[in-house]
Amino acid sequence: MSAAGLDGHGPEVLAEIAEVRETVARLHAELPRWELVVWTAGNVSQRLRTADLFVIKPSGVTYDELTPESMVVCDLDGNLVDGTRSPSSDTAAHAYVYRHMAHVGGVVHTHSTYATAWAARAEPVPCVLTMMADEFGGDIPVGPFALIGDDSIGQGIVETLSTSRSPAVLMRNHGPFTIGKDAKAAVKAAVMVEEVARTVHISRQLGEPTRISQEHVDSLYDRYQNVYGR
Ligand SMILES: [Zn+2]
Repeated sequence: MSAAGLDGHGPEVLAEIAEVRETVARLHAELPRWELVVWTAGNVSQRLRTADLFVIKPSGVTYDELTPESMVVCDLDGNLVDGTRSPSSDTAAHAYVYRHMAHVGGVVHTHSTYATAWAARAEPVPCVLTMMADEFGGDIPVGPFALIGDDSIGQGIVETLSTSRSPAVLMRNHGPFTIGKDAKAAVKAAVMVEEVARTVHISRQLGEPTRISQEHVDSLYDRYQNVYGR
């Protein structure tokens, strides 16, 4: 794949690309650190503030080999703009989210074990923990089954998250996609979705976990999201 190149972009954009390449490369190290990925699975991206571009992991590169230089820059249609490698095979899904959700600045995808186990059952994670009310504002929803190769994964993510407060969606038979104001926030959501999927799974081995009332979910969410002003 040949890159269109960065000709025509000013120094402000080039400076932000250098900064976001560093950020995205560094954040990828969080995925194996929190045991969310194996081999080359998983990807993190962040949108630029200064141009309609985003930085994402290249395809088929192991986590040990990821450097700022190896990251690739794509436009919001998922076309390679700068980089020596092919973009991640999930690039079209990230691009679709950025095109349709203006407030999203970061996207993460993993096949983390417990979250993916819920996705395999097509079952939303019920809001039975205060940390879920805080972070997700309710259940973690399940998105539709979608095949890779066109916009159907991206459409499923956007449709599901547009009608939910959750920054995480469990794509059916696939795994979690998370969003945030930047890549760091999306990585945090990816870590948290795995944590709560694991805890609720363990809880259910011993009986049916107790749901938090909607009133209390709303109160916890408002307090955590607004009063603490994240
Ligand atoms: Zn995947």
